[in-house]
Order: sequence, then structure tokens, then C-alpha cells
Amino acid sequence: MPNARITNALTIDVEDYFQVSAFAPYIARADWDRRECRVEHNVERILALLDEHDISATFFTLGWIAERYPQLVRRIASHGHEVASHGYGHERASDLDEAAFSSDVRRAKGVLEDLIGSAVLGYRAPSFSIGPANLWALDSLARTGHRYSSSIYPIRHDHYGMPDAPRFVHQAVDGLIEIPITTLRLFNRNLPSSGGGYFRLLPYALSRWMLRRVNEVDRQSAVFYFHPWEIDPGQPRIAGIDRKTRFRHYVNIHRMEGRLQSLLGDFKWGRMDHLFLHRAAAAAVS
Ligand SMILES: [Zn+2]
Repeated sequence: MPNARITNALTIDVEDYFQVSAFAPYIARADWDRRECRVEHNVERILALLDEHDISATFFTLGWIAERYPQLVRRIASHGHEVASHGYGHERASDLDEAAFSSDVRRAKGVLEDLIGSAVLGYRAPSFSIGPANLWALDSLARTGHRYSSSIYPIRHDHYGMPDAPRFVHQAVDGLIEIPITTLRLFNRNLPSSGGGYFRLLPYALSRWMLRRVNEVDRQSAVFYFHPWEIDPGQPRIAGIDRKTRFRHYVNIHRMEGRLQSLLGDFKWGRMDHLFLHRAAAAAVS
């Protein structure tokens, strides 16, 4: 490893397995309260893993989860991590009009701030659902008191993505920066290289190579994301789902925790707010 290591942002989208957008056609929102909840246990394992590596991270937490597990949110904060918002009800921003979006993000921010007693500055849209058709959402976020968004994925994907968006942190609107999920520019395309199903699908050595390229060639911090349900091979299987959804959700889920262990050791990690809202910290090298 080079001596001057760039710090990357480690982010966790705190939601349960039954709230995943791809399951929406199969699981009614009204049934959420009847499902076995696994998020508390899984987040506790993540907290232990981060403690073990002495890493602080950013937890984009759903308001729906925070209302039901207030202690969990307090524990995330008390372990030195940033509590940010994943919205209230995990509805895609692209499915909402401006009034509904604004009310969802305001509600989530309020619930989280009441629990931790400090300002929530960051937001990540469910399923990276801010793109060319709803860039007004960025203005909404600034108006509701957010300082950064991490909601745009500059790739081509069937459910989301804005391939022409800037690949790295930039001023999106007055008062708000956008911090996109990291891609690697290769063969004139942006390749997803920082989390989710792709990280589970690809061999770890390839993911590591892509992140290193971003650090060493682009000289930029990467933004990596995962979910608590991705380290939970024992989660109840959802029946009757289509093949693609099943593959994306469950592929290599049993390998995820081991890969995370490697990833946390192989790179230097920190919180979104520390890295991007205080640029001086981003320049710090070990
Ligand atoms: Zn989500």
C-alpha cells in the first residue's frame, strides 16, 4: 500500500430486507409490521465490526426504522458514527411529487434529530432515485436543511442511474453538495465499483483493484455502501420473486461479511460529514 492513503467514505443504508425497493411488488407496505425484523441484530454486528477496525462510518437510516428502534439509532451515534437520513418510508424519490418528497425527508430528519439531539446533514435517496427527471429533489433537500446528498449513481442501470452526472463530489444547488456513489471510468464507461450487489457478485480482488484505481489514479475518496441485510444469510427468503430480483438480492450473501472484513482492513475509512463537509479532513494522510 502507498503511504499517502486517501480516506474513503463507508456508508450503510439502514433498512430491513423486506423494505428493499425490488421487493415492493411482492411485499405490501402494510405488511412491513408483520415481518420478522432483523435490522437490529445486523446493525449490532456492523457496529462490532467497525469497532474491531476502529472505523467510523455514516449510517443513512430510515425514519420508519428509527421510530421502531430508537435505541439502535442512539447506539449508532454513541459509537461515534454519523447518523444521516435514508428518508422515512423508503419510497423512491422518482415516485413522489415535490410535496410528498419534501414531507418524507422532513419527517425522517425530525425523527432522527429528536433521537440523537443533533442536526442530520446528509441524505441518501432510496435506490439512488434522484436523476435527470427529478433534480428538483436536490432543491428540496437544501430547503429542508440538508447539507449533502449521496443519491445520484452515475451509471446506466435498469432501475436508476444518471450516467452523465459528475463522478465525484460537487456543488449541486445552493447550500447542498452531491456526493455520488463511486464508479470507475474504464473503456469510456462508468462501472459500478463501490458496493451493493456488484460488490457481492464480483471477486473481491477486482473490487479492491477498482477502488485502488479511484484512490491512486483519480486521487479521490470513494463512497462505498452496503446494507445490514447483506451480512445476513439467515434472513427469511421471499417466495415467488422473479429470477433477476432473487439473484441480485441473495448472490454471495454468505460471503459478504468476510469480504467486508478484507475491505475494512485494505483501505482507510471515515464518515461522510468528516470527509466532505470539512475538506481539510479529506486531505489528511496517514
Ligand atoms: Zn434503501
